[in-house]
Amino acid sequence: LSNQSTFNFLNAFVSLADRTSLLARAQSADEAQLASPHGARHGLAGKLIGIKDNICTTDLPTTAASSMLKNFMSPYDATVVKQLRGAGAIVAGKTNMDEFGMGSHSTHSAFGSVQSSRRGGEILSAGGSSGGSAVAVASAQCWAALGTDTGGSVRLPAAYTGVVGYKPSYGLLSRWGVIAYANSLDTVGIMARHVDGVKSIFEKLNVYDPQDPTSLPPSTRSHLGSSKTTTLLKIGIPLEYNISSLHPTVRKAWIQSLRHLEECGHTLHPVNLPSTQHALSAYYVLAPAEASSNLAKYDGVRYGSRAEGIDGTPSSVLFAKTRGQFLGPEVRRRILLGAFSLSAQAIDNYFIQAQKVRRLVSNDFNQVFEAPNQLVAGPSTLNSDGVDVLLCPTAPTLPPSLAEIENQEPLDAYMNDVFTVPASLAGLPAISVPVPIAKEDRNPELLEQGIRETAGMQIIGQFGDDNLVLDVARQLA
Ligand code: GLN
Repeated sequence: LSNQSTFNFLNAFVSLADRTSLLARAQSADEAQLASPHGARHGLAGKLIGIKDNICTTDLPTTAASSMLKNFMSPYDATVVKQLRGAGAIVAGKTNMDEFGMGSHSTHSAFGSVQSSRRGGEILSAGGSSGGSAVAVASAQCWAALGTDTGGSVRLPAAYTGVVGYKPSYGLLSRWGVIAYANSLDTVGIMARHVDGVKSIFEKLNVYDPQDPTSLPPSTRSHLGSSKTTTLLKIGIPLEYNISSLHPTVRKAWIQSLRHLEECGHTLHPVNLPSTQHALSAYYVLAPAEASSNLAKYDGVRYGSRAEGIDGTPSSVLFAKTRGQFLGPEVRRRILLGAFSLSAQAIDNYFIQAQKVRRLVSNDFNQVFEAPNQLVAGPSTLNSDGVDVLLCPTAPTLPPSLAEIENQEPLDAYMNDVFTVPASLAGLPAISVPVPIAKEDRNPELLEQGIRETAGMQIIGQFGDDNLVLDVARQLA
């Protein structure tokens, strides 16, 4: 604990573990380490981990940053928390986030906005929805953190705060005890300052969990992952990601990263992912549709807070009042959007179309990767013209200031997810790595203070190629 602190700086945490119990746990981790044959600290023992507040813990409330779940205490730990504690890691606290994971700047929280470091006195967006986890790691309030990534919520905050943020292939990490936003997209993600930190946590959590019906069983896991090593890879450059609104600083950092990988001996290959342009619209139909169904239980009767003074009123009034009082505007917007796109009048034109786009996005990826997708039926032959991984930016711009986004329309916030949702729709492993921006683009004031400005670069791999993605990330970092 000596060089890992826990205090709530930049509103990164919504609740903190008790300092005395932290010290006691750290001490027992130390004693266990000393008693071990090597006597040295290794693995996750004694490491402080921040846990996003939509992941259940028994010792601290789990609120998903919503007034609806204010003071909710879970009777059990989520599987991922159990696994971390089993490895000797210490839960530092619960991290701030966008309510129920819905947002891109961590400003939609019942606990107030997460704040990221200042640029010339400005407070920046931490990205969302796992912005608390990202800032907690970036500001060294913990060693690593768990977030959740449904459409980019681990990768975007990682890119905005300069840490590593990794979304594993869908179904590898258990979601048992994770408050659902959009089940078919939700994954637990990992943030740390270095790829090795992310990897050591991934290795502990990448285990089949019979309690999660979407956890991949051992029989499927045994087929996953190519035998490729990072010696000589084919790196794909998805041309559709070079959009006109890509900020020149980010484009330059992308080119620089590609050059670096080329210098490492890899070859570069332009590829096309034509359905990418429709991915964002499909995501913002599908995610709210699943959310409207998942959040239906927070009605003041089955779950959550209840509006007062309405006993004896019809249940529809009680539900509406409760939701109006305890859910934030962005969550209410998503529920309404989702309820509409699932309604009889709209389902064919919205929900079904979006599902079709989702399939097209997956097919695009399968067409450009050399390795076959092990989840797709049919002959699993190698596509010899294909690439091993894709490299593209995580977000089109550097982090905006909180002042800049204050008066934005919801659609402007949705735009930040344009590069992260495709991998989510296809369930693919994707990681955001901070790379330095060009010297001429740096803020002179920060340069003088020795602060390294970075942009997030994203590596996306075929389903199950998680280790390859992590290895390339290590070469880039
Ligand atoms: N910003 C996206 C959304 O609001 C992604 C959120 C997430 O990945 N949890 O839906």
